[in-house]
Amino acid sequence: MRAFKTVRGMRDFLPEEAKMMKYIEGKARKTAELYGYREIITPVVEPYELVAAKAGEEVRARMYAFKDLGGRKVALRPEFTASVARLVATTLRNEPKPLRLFCVGSLYRYDEPQKGRFREFWQSNFELMGSEKTEADAEILLLTNHFMKSVGLKNYAFKIGHVGVLRSILSQEGLAEETQNQVMQLMDKKLHDEALKLVKDAGVSERCLDTLRKLVGLRGDAAAWVLKEMEKLVKDYEKAASAVSNLGEILKFFSESAGEISVTIDAGFARGLEYYTGIIFEVYVPELEIALAGGGRYNKLVELFGGEPTPAVGVAHGIDRMMLALQEQKTNLTAGGEKTVMVIPVNESLNSKALKISEMLRAEGISVETEVMGRKVSKALEDADRRGISHVIIVGEKELKDEAVVLRNMRKKRQSTVKIEKLAEEIRQDSS
Ligand code: AMP
Repeated sequence: MRAFKTVRGMRDFLPEEAKMMKYIEGKARKTAELYGYREIITPVVEPYELVAAKAGEEVRARMYAFKDLGGRKVALRPEFTASVARLVATTLRNEPKPLRLFCVGSLYRYDEPQKGRFREFWQSNFELMGSEKTEADAEILLLTNHFMKSVGLKNYAFKIGHVGVLRSILSQEGLAEETQNQVMQLMDKKLHDEALKLVKDAGVSERCLDTLRKLVGLRGDAAAWVLKEMEKLVKDYEKAASAVSNLGEILKFFSESAGEISVTIDAGFARGLEYYTGIIFEVYVPELEIALAGGGRYNKLVELFGGEPTPAVGVAHGIDRMMLALQEQKTNLTAGGEKTVMVIPVNESLNSKALKISEMLRAEGISVETEVMGRKVSKALEDADRRGISHVIIVGEKELKDEAVVLRNMRKKRQSTVKIEKLAEEIRQDSS
């Protein structure tokens, strides 16, 4: 039979990587707990129409979409927000607001595989449903900041914008939503000239073109200055002006509560997903060009899916990319002297005793590997050393007569005879 490889864009996670992914997922779960977000688990397979509705052309064209055996058009979820909005529009319709929901799992997009871009990837996703207030937007930024910090990421920075600014100008100029979406897609890909050309061809005013040209080039980390400039540029566009002041309020809340944070305001920032109506943001580290997380406000999605009008704001954190960033930053997650024990019987007649001692230690919460290869003690010790086991227990007849075994500290390379009843305590107290 031929040797199989993973399908292009799919990956195996070997133990070290799997451990890192689960570590990040654990921190996401802890963040959810700290901020009051309750976990939900939604299906990987969703109706095509649901996930296609507002995903944006980019994502729509890259969906794993197919007919199931019952002839239903379905897709592997490319993101979580549509599934959460579906629930809030249906089953959770009558839940009191605010609703804080968390989910974590795999997503599927037929992207061109490259560093940090995979066809199967993982996100932790937080949605705050039912509030249109700026403190809700600030909460999503704050919890993202907390999460990034808690996994040990360094020098991460927020890029923040507001789709209401550009969209309000385009609406006031009479541009159809369809065309607006195309403009935003081009902006998202940083194809600003093409975006401006599209706007021009749609027949907008000179003043509009001039305003857009200036907005697109306007960004900086001096928030107060950028906001002032934005205000000046949009003064003739009423709704765009209120979008700028909305952005200002959120930033004020965020910076007053977050402590040290690095933020760039980008007036020409757009994101591919079409459902955003307010603030949008992404998180970056200097080591990677791609975003670690992305989010924003979407006030119309639940309604679009047949629910009550429900303002909402949320964020998705790319767990794979956070892992990549931690690796690039050479963050050592396993520092801290983890203890793992190997139990080796000196001959086969002691197998049963070795298993019994292993079970006794596990019952005390200690991680134990029992020797199951029938190797000589010297060979098993070599293996334990190679794999970074902290303690080895050698089960021999001589010591057993006194209800004892040999306990060897592999890192310090010293050993002593210890009573079996004292083993767990001894291992716990022994520094490794
Ligand atoms: P989005 O749903 O496009 O807003 O993406 C949110 C986050 O998911 C991004 O910031 C990435 O961290 C992650 N992400 C999106 N697409 C991919 C992909 N193809 N591979 C890995 N991570 C991704």
